[in-house]
Amino acid sequence: PLVLGIETSCDETGIGIVRGSTLLANVISSSMDEHARYGGVVPEVAARAHLEALVPALKAALAEADVTLDDLDAIAVTSGPGLSGALMVGVGAAKALALSLDKPLYAVNHLVGHVGADVLDDDAPLEYPTIALLVSGGHTSLLLVRDLVSDVELLGETIDDAAGEAFDKVARLLGLPYPGGPQIDRVAVGGDPKAIRFPRGLSHQKDMEKHRYDFSFSGLKTAVARWVEQTRDSGVEVPIADVAASFREAVADILLTKAVAACVDYGIPRLLLGGGVVANARVRELAAERCAAAGIELRIPPLSLCTDNGAMIAALGSQLIMAGHAPSTLGFGADSTLPATVIQA
Ligand code: ATP
Ligand code: MG
Ligand code: FE
Repeated sequence: PLVLGIETSCDETGIGIVRGSTLLANVISSSMDEHARYGGVVPEVAARAHLEALVPALKAALAEADVTLDDLDAIAVTSGPGLSGALMVGVGAAKALALSLDKPLYAVNHLVGHVGADVLDDDAPLEYPTIALLVSGGHTSLLLVRDLVSDVELLGETIDDAAGEAFDKVARLLGLPYPGGPQIDRVAVGGDPKAIRFPRGLSHQKDMEKHRYDFSFSGLKTAVARWVEQTRDSGVEVPIADVAASFREAVADILLTKAVAACVDYGIPRLLLGGGVVANARVRELAAERCAAAGIELRIPPLSLCTDNGAMIAALGSQLIMAGHAPSTLGFGADSTLPATVIQA
């Protein structure tokens, strides 16, 4: 089926078009620059930006795919989780399109969409079950996906900051601009990842019982802040490269330790990564190392499909249709806390 996907859960206005499992268009307009001076995504600013970007992005995607609105078989939209006001723009637009064009509408889960992105890759399709680690500025979630369209289990998630948020906050305290992830990556080159042993949240024996697959990054951020402050107070110049490298090492270690543990515990030799933090050089490197050592097949979609985008939403919609799922009824609304287990609202 020819499916249009609309994604507005955070700061990316994403419009994607797929035919079956084939990517035809993936237009992304980000309001990231507008959030830079606040050091993080401002919900109202993001929602307004979606309003402005949506129609131009839709036109661009139709042109890129060389199709018309009439050609579409269905529309898919992210209904949650995400920022309420931002989600509402996409949901409203999707309903308006579906009603006026008389097309079926699929309200889908953003997190599961990240997993669905894999089908658009040229490689052989991902086998299920798989473990999926989704890491971005808004989420850090570990999923057990037994079937993309019918069975998703949330194994764990962050109990405080998301991993991308930690990158952004640590970058800020090092005096680096937003978004912090790429900056940390940049200055970490040449730094010693073993220079400072920062804490790995929720990885001690006692935490592992209750929070085996959960994440915590606020303690790490505080530890970096304290270390930097103490170093400055003692009159020594802060070795930014070492701090960045050591912090990045701690995040990558936490993420991969938990993800690989889930693969081993459940006997699932597959790990899919998604979300903007997947751009991190050390996260990618360590993922490759740890997965190779444990005999786990590592899947990382191209970055344009890892960060928030509409194509992954269209792909999930398309998979739902091919599996025979009925469209959503129009009573659904934006749900900022939609659980990962709810694949379609
Ligand atoms: P959502 O949480 O809804 O997916 P988001 O906009 O936060 O939304 P993305 O756009 O996928 O998610 O990712 C942005 C985040 O990824 C930012 O926090 C940014 O710092 C982080 N990031 C980007 N590049 C890197 C990198 N090289 N290393 C680490 N983090 C990175
Ligand atoms: Mg973003
Ligand atoms: Fe996302």
